[in-house]
Amino acid sequence: MAILIIDDVPVTRKILESFLKDGGYTDILQAESAESAFNLLGLYSDGDDKNPVIDLILMDIVLQGVDGIEACRLIKNDQRSAHIPIVILTAYSSSEHIETAFKAGAIDFLPKPVNKLELLARVRSILHFKSEVDRLREREQHLVETTLKLERANVLLERLSNSDGLTGIPNRRYFDYMFKKLLASGTRLAIPISLLMMDIDNFKLYNDTYGHLAGDDCLKLISGAIHDTIKRESDFIARYGGEEFAIVLFGVENEMAANLAENIREHVYGLKIPHSSSTVDNWVTVSIGVVSCLPEPSVAPDNMIDCADKALYAAKSHGKNQVIKYEYPGV
Ligand code: GH3
Ligand code: MG
Ligand code: MG
Repeated sequence: MAILIIDDVPVTRKILESFLKDGGYTDILQAESAESAFNLLGLYSDGDDKNPVIDLILMDIVLQGVDGIEACRLIKNDQRSAHIPIVILTAYSSSEHIETAFKAGAIDFLPKPVNKLELLARVRSILHFKSEVDRLREREQHLVETTLKLERANVLLERLSNSDGLTGIPNRRYFDYMFKKLLASGTRLAIPISLLMMDIDNFKLYNDTYGHLAGDDCLKLISGAIHDTIKRESDFIARYGGEEFAIVLFGVENEMAANLAENIREHVYGLKIPHSSSTVDNWVTVSIGVVSCLPEPSVAPDNMIDCADKALYAAKSHGKNQVIKYEYPGV
């Protein structure tokens, strides 16, 4: 444990050092003024200079230049040295002096001339106390780091449990949660909402022809195409099921929703993903069911989904690769 003696009288420093050495303390540093102590403690540097670790400071109250009380205050006010206990050495043991020393942040005081046994007893108990405090601080730091790691892991877990592993977009679970919230907001603010249910045409045949991995790539491309078409932050895109996507358009209704759905359909078609076994076209195509409404409390998420599903089913039965829009409640 390192002890720093700050005293402007060399012989006092020498005596203190020999007392400490007699007590078995070997790591002793000396400073003849507050300024050189600040230098040693690194209080004048603004970088990562390596300064010695000090565990205890013994400081004379009377120093040339910055006096002991002011030095004590400065050391205690700097976060790099605030944790170092300071014992003030003073020839004046009036209660006024002692109170000033404590107010400046000293942990203890010793009357001058210093008595060896008294000095060693104080040093031992303060160093013991400091190592306990250091240990607690270390544990606290460890706890803070663990809590931070846990919080980061929770955020990651939350993101993972809300997103689809293949495409990275929100999954069905998150869609259910968000759609309910968006419908509630739409109802409260009287903002129209449209729901698009999109399904890839003949996707089973696609997998059968090109393999499941190619099918996965196709799903990723189509998810990207939806995002490239629907760019507003207020809209919400999710993978609803195997090859089905759900798109919630907030503040969009009727023709506008059908137009956006048509844009998505065209965008996917424009990708020109070959689909030689499709019953519809040479390229991968999608069918989209659309439903719009000005939500009110009676409009439940399931009713909207049901209605969009029916529109999608109609698009499929009318030959696929098309958009069909229903009014809510549509049949
Ligand atoms: P339709 O035109 O009527 O929609 O016919 P379809 O073949 O697209 O529909 P069907 O429901 O018969 O088949 C869906 C296929 O989607 C079957 C399933 O293997 C495939 N699929 C679902 N999820 C995934 C996936 O994550 N990756 C791949 N590659 N295929 C998937
Ligand atoms: Mg399907
Ligand atoms: Mg399909």
